Amino acid sequence: MLEHDVLVIGAGLAGMRAAIAARAGGANTAIISKVHPVRSHSNAAQGGINAALTDRGDSWEEHAYETVKGSDFLGDQDAIEVMCRSAGRSLIDLEHMGVTFNRDDEGRLGTRRFGGQQRARTFFVGDFTGQAMLHVMFEQLIKSGVRSYEEWFVTGLINEDSQVCGVTALEIRSGQIFAIRAKTVIFCTGGLGRLFEPSTNALIVTGDGMALAYNAGARLMDMEMVQYHPTTLAGSGVLISEAARGEGAYLLDKHGERFMKRYAPNMMELASRDVVSRAEQTEINAGNGINGCLLLDCRHLGEALISEKLSQIREIGIDLAGVDMVKEPVPIRPGMHYMMGGIKTDVDGRTNLPGVYAAGECACVSVHGGNRLGANSLLDTIVFGERAGNHAAMMSRDMEYVELDVDVVVKREERRIQEMLDRPKNGDRVAAIRLAMGQSMNNNLAVFRNQAGMVETLRDVRELADRYVKAPVDDKGRVFNTDLVFALELGFMLDCAETIALSALDRKDSRGAQARTDYPKRDDENWMKHVVVTKGEVGPEISYLPVSITKWPPEERKY
Ligand SMILES: Cc1cc2nc3c(=O)[nH]c(=O)nc-3n(C[C@H](O)[C@H](O)[C@H](O)COP(=O)(O)OP(=O)(O)OC[C@H]3O[C@@H](n4cnc5c(N)ncnc54)[C@H](O)[C@@H]3O)c2cc1C
Repeated sequence: MLEHDVLVIGAGLAGMRAAIAARAGGANTAIISKVHPVRSHSNAAQGGINAALTDRGDSWEEHAYETVKGSDFLGDQDAIEVMCRSAGRSLIDLEHMGVTFNRDDEGRLGTRRFGGQQRARTFFVGDFTGQAMLHVMFEQLIKSGVRSYEEWFVTGLINEDSQVCGVTALEIRSGQIFAIRAKTVIFCTGGLGRLFEPSTNALIVTGDGMALAYNAGARLMDMEMVQYHPTTLAGSGVLISEAARGEGAYLLDKHGERFMKRYAPNMMELASRDVVSRAEQTEINAGNGINGCLLLDCRHLGEALISEKLSQIREIGIDLAGVDMVKEPVPIRPGMHYMMGGIKTDVDGRTNLPGVYAAGECACVSVHGGNRLGANSLLDTIVFGERAGNHAAMMSRDMEYVELDVDVVVKREERRIQEMLDRPKNGDRVAAIRLAMGQSMNNNLAVFRNQAGMVETLRDVRELADRYVKAPVDDKGRVFNTDLVFALELGFMLDCAETIALSALDRKDSRGAQARTDYPKRDDENWMKHVVVTKGEVGPEISYLPVSITKWPPEERKY
């Protein structure tokens, strides 16, 4: 019998941090991941992690205020305080674990500036910070003795009498279905970037955890808040990190003008992401771009600095667009990057379902509100991953395993999967449905939105969901059936897509990443609240939660 006090779903930074904390808290802990842990998407994080260290005159209050302002005053200020207060200790912990952060000329931990912040408080390892952190965290995970189910795909939650008590999972290598019992479950399944095409996210980022939790009765919050990053590479949509602008790169239109001076005269290229992306899209729409793109100019930074601090994005430019940033400006445009919304939790990762926690990008605490500041996500994964792990370990001490007939559970799930494999071959292709969804989302839920477009996408998503249930799975085999995994992921994606479109349609103001051309103003009187979606008896239901305001009353946002 596979059973654990704490089962962490997802082995990115949030998941590994949660598992290490739970194990340290004495819990029998396991982690499960559909890819090998160091292939988790956290690996892709480039620019760095924020923390206000007092030895350089910074303060957590300043960091917190800028996070609140960045969120367009939708972030919950009590949670933001927790995150920013904890940041310094979390960063030093990472250093002690072995993350080799870049140093400055005096040998102290070095920083760079990121968007929406007046001070340089982003700590980094070149432009591959996530990879450096993830590998160190994996070493710690192995050392801690946490059991790791690698390349196991969670297909469903086991829910007995409204109590989540484990998961069903496909061991991808053998194709066998297992039930894993758990007293507590922590979702750390990452974002949902691939609901949009293109996206900066890896193909595996498909919203599985959000959909699983939603279908089990969890609340999803702020789902309309989808971040479009200002600098994604022309064509592929791969990220060119904000670190480039942090190091001093310019954004230029086709006339060579630094157009940000008209949108954010004080912060220029380092205004917060929603502001820069809107400025770019406005310029592109006005015909001031080149082939639907603007230019990121790094030439004045010089080859030495680029080689030391931006080597990976230089290579990305050369390999994927044939452009060497040392010699030429890089064509970029806004592209889907990050999900601010997710499974609603408190500051200890608790959801509305007993024993179910969430942390990292799949969760919504909500520390990012309407718009996340660059380098606050890695911080979010570490701070709230640890807190969720601690809390789950503590809770599981006084909990008993729910009685479960494992054979019945496994057989039921095997039947469901077999029915998918047995679908006749004449339905639409899974890949075609996924692409159609991604393109519709990107057409109508991008930088600018309006009612008609969003209604169209909601209709598209629902039609695609009808076609999905008949879509055949070509590979009928058991071993490494990635066709099957792809099909299962699409089901999760369609559920999440519907909640995004519904939330965005419901919010009738413009705030953070939601810029509606039909409701262009922020409306604090009516919309200073979180939009929440839950799965009701007959379909999704919308409700609202208040925004926590502790120290910083809403004000007009200027950069
Ligand atoms: C290109 C890029 C650059 C970025 N740079 C930065 C940066 O510099 N600074 C910053 O703060 N943020 C950055 N971000 C954002 C940040 O990297 C992510 O938000 C963060 O790493 C997410 O971590 P996570 O642990 O929540 O999820 P992930 O790292 O995505 O991990 C998710 C885990 O869940 C597992 N999983 C998912 N579904 C299942 C399933 N059904 N069954 C089993 N396992 C499952 C996966 O296998 C994986 O292990 C960047 C994002 C991108 C796309």
